[in-house]
Amino acid sequence: MCVTIYGIRIFTIESSRMKLLTVFIFQFSIGFLSFSQGLGDVFSVRIAGNILNEDILGSMEFATKVVGTKVIMVLGHTRCGGIVGACNHVEMGNLTTLLNKIQPAIFNEKTTTENRDGSNENFVNNVTEIHVHLTIDRVRRESPIIAEMEEKGELIIVGGIYDVETGEVAIFE
Ligand SMILES: [Zn+2]
Repeated sequence: MCVTIYGIRIFTIESSRMKLLTVFIFQFSIGFLSFSQGLGDVFSVRIAGNILNEDILGSMEFATKVVGTKVIMVLGHTRCGGIVGACNHVEMGNLTTLLNKIQPAIFNEKTTTENRDGSNENFVNNVTEIHVHLTIDRVRRESPIIAEMEEKGELIIVGGIYDVETGEVAIFE
């Protein structure tokens, strides 16, 4: 069984219980997504900066445990204003709290020694990728339901980066 996202075939585990193949897309705020899947095949949560909270985890648990979604995809994108803002330590109202949730990824970016701000595209790209990985780690850690389903092979969690210029998605191994 496989699902195609942006032309990428994602293979999932065969399951006799599987009634429908759905994908839960948890992504940064991209405004121009298009999918070839049918109605109800894609659960999508879009939130600036790809931050995680209880409501989003609850949505993921509903999609996977209740509806039968087989793939959780955490999808970042290049030139993300949220990531750039976090890299620039932007502070503005409630946005401050949201962007603070990206700071762990900035902290974990150890390869860039100078120009660690939003003007450094390489730095921003590294932070974006690290942030996707950290988000996936948190999904596993903070949702025992999803972690158990993954352990049993009932779903897969994939991370990727959507390149807004080429339209291509790089899926992490
Ligand atoms: Zn973004």
